[in-house]
Formats: sequence, structure tokens, C-alpha cells
Amino acid sequence: MADLTQHRCLNHTAREAVARCPSCTQFFCRECITEHDGVIICAGCLRKQAAAPAARRAKWNLIGRAGLAALGFLACWLWFYAAGQILLALPSDFHEGTMWKVKVPDE
Ligand SMILES: [Zn+2]
Ligand SMILES: [Zn+2]
Repeated sequence: MADLTQHRCLNHTAREAVARCPSCTQFFCRECITEHDGVIICAGCLRKQAAAPAARRAKWNLIGRAGLAALGFLACWLWFYAAGQILLALPSDFHEGTMWKVKVPDE
């Protein structure tokens, strides 16, 4: 650790480096370095690492959402198609209202 004190933080030239980022091999102070998943990494590399999977996830989210939308559309279409078939299959006297006349004996 003795050689670390000879190095300065890449972002804060007045501060002594406490750790070296294994990703970009630059020296950083306590404030600029963070631990992520048990690995010491600088803020810049962490941001780069975090951005990469997020972009990939966003792409998959878009594909997933498009798939869900298509599925939803298909389900809706099937539902209305089935409802239409049921309505068409109903006996014609149902549409004429003769079935309801049973419930109003006053007429
Ligand atoms: Zn780094
Ligand atoms: Zn710093």
C-alpha cells in the first residue's frame, strides 16, 4: 500500500489515492472509488458497467412489450371474434325480444 500514497486521485489531484481501479488502472481517492459486487471500481467504470446491461435490458424490454402488445391484441381479437360468433349463434327470437316478454306479464 506504500506506493499508493505516491499516487493522486485522477479527479482530485490534491487527494491521495486509496485504491486503483482494476478496469481502467487509474488511481482514485476514497470518494471516487466504490465497491460493486465485491469488486473495487471507480465511479466512471461503474457508470459504464451499469449502462451496458441497462441498454441491453431496455432492448429486451422493448421486445417483450411488443410481444405482450401483440399477444394482447390477439387475445382481444379472439375475444371479440368469439363474442361475435356467440351472438350470431343465438336464436333469432332472442334478438327480437320475445324472450323478455315472459318477464313482463302486464303487457
Ligand atoms: Zn475505472
Ligand atoms: Zn477523487
